[in-house]
Amino acid sequence: YIDEFRRDPAETEPLIAVDATCGNGHDTLWLAESCDKVYGFDIQESAVSRTAALLEERGLADKVRLFCDNHANMMKYIREETAVIVFNLGYLPSGDKNITTDAKTTLSALSSSLSLLRADGLLCVTMYPGHPAGKTERKAALAWAAQLDKRAYHCVRTDMLNQPDSAPEILFITTK
Ligand code: SAM
Repeated sequence: YIDEFRRDPAETEPLIAVDATCGNGHDTLWLAESCDKVYGFDIQESAVSRTAALLEERGLADKVRLFCDNHANMMKYIREETAVIVFNLGYLPSGDKNITTDAKTTLSALSSSLSLLRADGLLCVTMYPGHPAGKTERKAALAWAAQLDKRAYHCVRTDMLNQPDSAPEILFITTK
C-alpha cells in the first residue's frame, strides 16, 4: 500500500504513519523505513524505551515521535493527515499478558484514526480472538467497522481458512 503512494508521481506530501501499539517496536521500525514520519504510542514505558532503542540502533529515531500514552489520546499529538495507521492489538507475547488493549479504548482510538486518515489512507488492525479480551475486542471492532458509511470507507477482514477459529484476523479500512 505504501509502495503505491511511493510510485504515484502526484504524491508530493510527506507520507505520515501511526503505530498505535509499539510493543517491541518491530512495526514502528518497518513504518519508519517506509514512511517520512511516524507517530508511535504505547501505554508501557518499557515498550516505548525498547522501540526507541531499536530505532536508535537503526538510525531512524529522528523520523519517529514516541508517546507513552493511550492511543485513544492520539488526537492530542497529531495535527497532520496520515496515510497509514496500524494497530497490533492484544498484549506483548514476551510481556505482562494482563496489559492488553481493551475494546472501549480501542474503539475510541479507531474513531480518532478515521478522523486523521487522509483520502486513500489505510487503517490496519490486527486482532487476536484467542484470548477472552481479544475476543470481545474483535467483536466490537467488527461491529464498529460494519456500520461505517459505505460511501466513505471500504472495510475488509481476513479469515484464515486452515487455522482454528481463534487465529488472528486483520481488519483493513481504506478511505475512498
Ligand atoms: N506492534 C508491536 C511490535 O511490533 O512488537 C506489538 C504490539 S503488542 C501485540 C500490543 C501492545 O499494545 C503492547 O505493547 C501494549 O502495551 C500496548 N497497548 C495496550 N493498550 C494500549 C493502549 N490503550 N494504548 C497504547 N498501547 C496499548
